[in-house]
Amino acid sequence: MKSKLLHISTIGCQMNVYDANQIAGVLAPLGYTGTDTIESADMVIVNTCTIREKAEQKAFSFLGRLAKIKIANPSLIVAVGGCVAQQEGDTIIKRMPHVDLVFGTHAIFRLPEMVRRIESSRCRIVDVRLSDPVDADGPVVGPAADGQVSAFVTIMRGCDNYCTYCVVPHVRGREASRHPDRIIEEIQLRVEQGIREVTLLGQNVNSYGNKEGLCSFAELLARVDDVGGLNRIRFTTSHPKDLSDELIRTFGRLEKLCHHIHLPVQSGDDGILKRMNRKYTRNTYLEKIAGLRAACPDIAITSDVIVGFPGETDRQFQATLDLIETVRYDGLFAFMYSDRPSAPAAAFSGKIDESVKKERLQALLNLQERITMEKHQAMVGRTLQILVEGPSRGLKSDDTESASPPIRWSGRASSNHIIHFDVPQDLLAKKELLTGTFADIMIEGAHAHSLWGRLIRGPKHAAPEEGEKTIAA
Ligand code: SAM
Ligand code: SF4
Repeated sequence: MKSKLLHISTIGCQMNVYDANQIAGVLAPLGYTGTDTIESADMVIVNTCTIREKAEQKAFSFLGRLAKIKIANPSLIVAVGGCVAQQEGDTIIKRMPHVDLVFGTHAIFRLPEMVRRIESSRCRIVDVRLSDPVDADGPVVGPAADGQVSAFVTIMRGCDNYCTYCVVPHVRGREASRHPDRIIEEIQLRVEQGIREVTLLGQNVNSYGNKEGLCSFAELLARVDDVGGLNRIRFTTSHPKDLSDELIRTFGRLEKLCHHIHLPVQSGDDGILKRMNRKYTRNTYLEKIAGLRAACPDIAITSDVIVGFPGETDRQFQATLDLIETVRYDGLFAFMYSDRPSAPAAAFSGKIDESVKKERLQALLNLQERITMEKHQAMVGRTLQILVEGPSRGLKSDDTESASPPIRWSGRASSNHIIHFDVPQDLLAKKELLTGTFADIMIEGAHAHSLWGRLIRGPKHAAPEEGEKTIAA
């Protein structure tokens, strides 16, 4: 079979990163292997996001640039997948003559057949049916990247929550959970590729299996914990309304479950939460935070917040700042509210000026930066176990090939903190410190977004030797 080159450009969330790997996996039997360069590709797939207006604009501007590349290489196949494809469907094909294929969020397993048709007859195809089963016959796993230690595993698709600002239920369809056996098989395949840590993905993992009568999410976690050769488990995202006591108790009980939860609050004001259709109050949210900290005192907690939701007053915004002070998050993703045409809040009155949204965003980021720095500084002197991910980012990739290899490496603690550390030359020379091993790092300093420290012990190999226990979170 002729070998062909595939370039996938992914915009957006972890779901899209996961989907990109699946796309690579389903197209591999057609002879496609990955390339980083668009110019050498036989097919370019743009894996799009529409959660906020900016992400959508980014997708269209990238697609615009591909028109020129297609003029230089007319046999190039240009495909658009993901949430913008789902939302816009054949409008893209009509607007952009250089696009050959638009495939929606449920069409990944139909891709090989569509690509074959395009290769043989150069037809143009749109497939945005929200219909296929949540699983292929067996798990499809694309190749792991060089030195990859961590991978996403989708456990469910879609969302039934209909938060009024959010486009996800409209472009990803109804919530559907994968069978636990398929999930475990996929994780085992990942472990065989050398993956040490998995992040289980869903828009609301806390309602995993409810509709289908499968096991609870806590039970699924217990099964994943038993997978041999896997060292760490993470998950995202948890909807606060469905965070059960059973799941809270799981922290601190399961050896491999990392001590971190991402629990998006969105707002600290009950009126805004109600109009967002979030179905919890500030108080019930704070009770869950207290429960998590009681069950697992060192748990790191991060969140998402939207500023400038329609009708948000200064007082309501202050309530959000006050909640952030109360919880003292370890990290925060903050977004300015952006109208999404298919989401109900687009029609809400009381739209907030962009300048006010910007001011609120800045005030919130300043507050969180102070809290993060205080928390980071309090970690100085502690020793944390990290899973080593490789040379710190920011170093040129060809530095890794040079005679004097990079000495600053990084990894993540169970809490998801990124920790940089210097590797002594003698250790590098012995090649003992390898990506995917565990190391103990004494924290010596704090940045706003990361920590640095000194290697105390390591490398500890992640796979157990005869008679040893698996190293866990
Ligand atoms: N399912 C997750 C949840 O319920 O928290 C996250 C979904 S979404 C991919 C990630 C984040 O984008 C949300 O938590 C929210 O803060 C933000 N977001 C979603 N729609 C938005 C909008 N219209 N404007 C601004 N931010 C938005
Ligand atoms: Fe969007 Fe809400 Fe579903 Fe999260 S839970 S994906 S914010 S609708």
